[in-house]
Amino acid sequence: MSVLTRDEAQTRAQILDVERYTIALDLTTGEETFDSATAIRFTARAAGDTFVEVKPATLRSISLDGQPLDPALLDGNRYPLTGLTAGPHELHIDAAMHYSRTGEGMHRFTDPTDGETYLYTQLFMEDVQRVFAAFDQPDLKSVFAIDVTAPAGWTVLGNGVAERTGEGRWTIAPTPLISTYLVAIAAGPWHSITTEHAGLPFGIHCRRSLAPYLDADADEILDITRACYDRYHEKFDEPYPFDSYDQAFVPEFNAGAMENPGLVTFRDEFVYRSAVTDTERQTRAMVIAHEMAHMWFGDLVTLTWWDDIWLNESFAEYMGYQTLTEATRFTDTWVDFGVARKGWGYDADQRPTTP
Ligand SMILES: [Zn+2]
Repeated sequence: MSVLTRDEAQTRAQILDVERYTIALDLTTGEETFDSATAIRFTARAAGDTFVEVKPATLRSISLDGQPLDPALLDGNRYPLTGLTAGPHELHIDAAMHYSRTGEGMHRFTDPTDGETYLYTQLFMEDVQRVFAAFDQPDLKSVFAIDVTAPAGWTVLGNGVAERTGEGRWTIAPTPLISTYLVAIAAGPWHSITTEHAGLPFGIHCRRSLAPYLDADADEILDITRACYDRYHEKFDEPYPFDSYDQAFVPEFNAGAMENPGLVTFRDEFVYRSAVTDTERQTRAMVIAHEMAHMWFGDLVTLTWWDDIWLNESFAEYMGYQTLTEATRFTDTWVDFGVARKGWGYDADQRPTTP
């Protein structure tokens, strides 16, 4: 598999404007793979060569502007698009994709407690290619419109409001322009608590076996969410950019949380199953505040390339500590910052990799 270099990304960004991904995912095709059909509408600003990325189990078909191309030309994770003419194009890619057991791509988890299965995506850096075909770099933003077929009785969540259009059929409202790595889907028989705030649907979700523990803390989690949301509105002077705010506590998550627009995913260890200290509650609140800051800084405004991730993360962290202190009962967050974060920052600053 080829890792995209910065030079390659800059070259491709000069050639392409990507307008819309129309994606159909079928999550009912067995335990090993799911079906992924993607149509990408884009414009080439000049004639030339480029490529699209995908990491399929099976690449069934690919066509450009209605003309079939040879699936055997897939080279690792890159499919070459040679001799593109200037102007608008439409690329169709139909593939079967592997489920993941490592938390990268479309993770599949079966709860040993009750046998229920849950899926969620984690697409940061280049794992979108494990779920659908994409011009996968952060500065080629696009609209994403996703339809999902899921087992009956499941709930599907996405970046936009998810509407159930029939038995097991879901349509996610198209996103505003976002980066490929920020697309998200979560599907399963979630236990959900939904409410409305500032005219938007808010929801928190976890697997069913954790329902009593999420219920016990739902008021605290939603109170913090609402308080941070209102405070960010005052500070940023820019309306929340998306149409809903879901927070899903998901199993076997590698990081603390991920700032997918409108669908933040958290490790479900944050659904506490026994007594915890107030410091642990503050840590959870801090992650809620940090991820919400990213809705504006990171999601609405996005880094061009990964070397700016330090600013994205540092600013979300700063906003999180500040906003908790200003808007919630956790009023001494800067002590935690001094103990847990400041030394870490000094350490990072001394490394040769820090510019
Ligand atoms: Zn972050």
